[in-house]
Amino acid sequence: MQMIIDGKMVDKKEKIKVFNPANDEVVGQVPLGNKNDLKKAIMAANRSKKDLNEISSRKISMALDDIAQELSKNWKDFSRSLTLESGKPIKASRDEVKRSIETLKLSAEESKRIYGETIPLDAGIGGKGFIGFTLKIPLGVVGAITPFNYPLNLAVHKLAPALAAKNAVILKPSLQAPLSILKLLEIMYPYFPDGAVNTVTGRGSEIGEEMVTSEYIDKISFTGSVETGKLISRQASMKKITLELGGNDPLIVLEDADLEKAVEGAVRGSYLYAGQVCIAVKRLIVDEKVADEFSALMVKETRKMKIGDPLDPKTDVGPLIDEKAASDVEKVVAEALNEGAELLCGGKREGNYYSPTVLDQVTPSMKLVSEETFGPISPIIRVNGVDEAIQIANSTPYGLQSSIFTSNIHHAMQAAKEIEAGSVMINKQSTFRTDNMPFGGFKMSGMGKEGVKYAVEDMVRTKLVVINTS
Ligand code: NAP
Repeated sequence: MQMIIDGKMVDKKEKIKVFNPANDEVVGQVPLGNKNDLKKAIMAANRSKKDLNEISSRKISMALDDIAQELSKNWKDFSRSLTLESGKPIKASRDEVKRSIETLKLSAEESKRIYGETIPLDAGIGGKGFIGFTLKIPLGVVGAITPFNYPLNLAVHKLAPALAAKNAVILKPSLQAPLSILKLLEIMYPYFPDGAVNTVTGRGSEIGEEMVTSEYIDKISFTGSVETGKLISRQASMKKITLELGGNDPLIVLEDADLEKAVEGAVRGSYLYAGQVCIAVKRLIVDEKVADEFSALMVKETRKMKIGDPLDPKTDVGPLIDEKAASDVEKVVAEALNEGAELLCGGKREGNYYSPTVLDQVTPSMKLVSEETFGPISPIIRVNGVDEAIQIANSTPYGLQSSIFTSNIHHAMQAAKEIEAGSVMINKQSTFRTDNMPFGGFKMSGMGKEGVKYAVEDMVRTKLVVINTS
């Protein structure tokens, strides 16, 4: 695979190897880009702005639609490549490819709907005789930085809205899983003027600061950890930024909940991609009155999870991204057990794999639940009633998505009002996401929204034009 800079494929002598988390075999390599490559991409992106702006929105829309078609034609290859580089079970990779096609199509539609409004200037003092209207104009150049866990769709969520709004883009993908998105960029870049679509596969620690601080990049759209997000927000100074960061999503189960539905949601939400999902269910906050029944059902359903080769369509839980990730989960579970948590099932590591695990008697101060644990863990925190459940849901610095299972409309609405998170799901787990919905967290989970329409809103500027009619 190669980088794309100024409408050309660019290789380098030095490479970064990409490993299959399921067996640690090398599945590909990418050039190791540096600051110089990034500077070339930034200059090319700036040069492309004029040409990009001259393309009609109709043509941009058709280009995004065609790219969606190309991805559809090759969905099997892309799904396999996603699984090989990320260890994601193939059924989840297929979903990610489907969603990436959807994100491209939504962006194709949105590119036709970028327009301003007329302003009633004569409603203001001194405005009589003036007509005003706004134009939505591109920001210029968008720098996109993406994580390992949804390496295709999360990049598409930045690239496609940016191009829909006629911005040039430079993508710095995660070096742990860059292969599938580079393949898509190979399809994408010839549709646009040279320099409009670039990607530099450098290390975040080496080229990140250059990208974030460059005066020739107008916006940084970042998805990744809170730690990197905080660094970016400090470095970005007055630059426009969107931050989609980590989560610690609660799933509340009240005494009047449909327990089977709640368990189904908890199992799906905790073990999707081995829990390495920003909106995975990371805390089960369960009313004491139903906690015994709930935990027994959780154990029963967790034991049904098929762990194994992520290329096998029957596999539910594959490996974690690398051995360090699995051993971090192992440590944090051991710490919780030392502090009094009770292991109900799972709790075993083999290499990069960690078994789906249910823990009871977890308390909110344990690191397992006070910080973001990226693993297939279901920690049960017992509470008394809705008020305590919401108070605990709000007790971490995170606020991405959240969920409550209840048949009481008043409790559901109380949760909707009081939970401090970007979304509250009622009788559905927090992993629910469609690509057109506003998506983005509160508190340390980030700032700004994605979801195609909302990403586009943040990738344009509003210019006012005033006409003196007198
Ligand atoms: P990460 O370590 O923060 O890395 C994310 C990206 O940032 C990578 O491309 C990385 O590059 C780059 N990077 C590293 N240091 C940088 C720097 N100093 N300046 C600029 N960029 C830098 O996150 P991750 O481990 O890949 O992903 C997992 C995290 O992402 C979790 O916390 C998860 O919750 C969060 N996430 C959030 C969302 C959301 O929408 N809210 C979605 C998915 C994931 P290298 O690969 O070169 O290090």
